[in-house]
Amino acid sequence: MADVTLRQVRKSYGSLEVVHGVDLDIKSGEFVVFVGPSGCGKSTLLRMIAGLEPITGGEISIEGRVVNDVPSPQRGIAMVFQSYALYPHMTVYENMAFGLKLKKTPKEEVDQRVREAARILQIEPYLDRMPKALSGGQRQRVAIGRAIVRNPKVFLFDEPLSNLDASLRAQTRVEIARLHDTLDATMIYVTHDQVEAMTLADRIVVLNAGNIEQVGSPLELYRNPVNTFVAGFIASQR
Ligand code: ADP
Ligand code: MG
Repeated sequence: MADVTLRQVRKSYGSLEVVHGVDLDIKSGEFVVFVGPSGCGKSTLLRMIAGLEPITGGEISIEGRVVNDVPSPQRGIAMVFQSYALYPHMTVYENMAFGLKLKKTPKEEVDQRVREAARILQIEPYLDRMPKALSGGQRQRVAIGRAIVRNPKVFLFDEPLSNLDASLRAQTRVEIARLHDTLDATMIYVTHDQVEAMTLADRIVVLNAGNIEQVGSPLELYRNPVNTFVAGFIASQR
């Protein structure tokens, strides 16, 4: 678990600024959801926190330490994307173990962590299978498992359920909530699905065109939206 702080964080691509000085304090163990229309900067913010994209202004801190110049693998963060990106030629077990082997983690520890993650995600029966023999939902669990084995302090999810059908999406959403309770980790979760945001979040961050419109609990945003943009976004439930 770790707290994450953003101070006047900016991002420009060439001469175009797409994130305009974002301030945000995420508490240790909190589940924070970023929502907002396509192109508002949700993925860019996650990628900057993960260290996959350099920031062009401001400061990002994790556990009180400024990480602007800390490379991604040393930030104690794991990211889960919407495209599962599993290695097709490796088994589920090997997919989950791969990152740890790169870090020269002892074999017994790799084995223990992979089996523990598989148990939590209920994918133990599939450890010897190849990704192509799995359903979309099972593959996404393997992708989450790959994040868990690294024992991250912070999990970042970028629309992890958007490739799943409605029933699987609901089921996996419940699992992610359970995961948050089990692991007691800080989670930052991007979605354009209001139901996911309202049900998963301790706090929701509503973004619009590279700025924060409002931050609050689902109930606060629902009851007291600061403007029509937030109201429209929170109310447009499917
Ligand atoms: P979201 O995830 O909220 O849909 P993004 O963070 O992907 O939005 O994008 C925010 C803005 O930055 C968009 O206008 C997008 O076109 C632009 N953008 C994202 N990545 C790049 C890039 N590599 N080069 C140039 N512009 C980019
Ligand atoms: Mg995105």
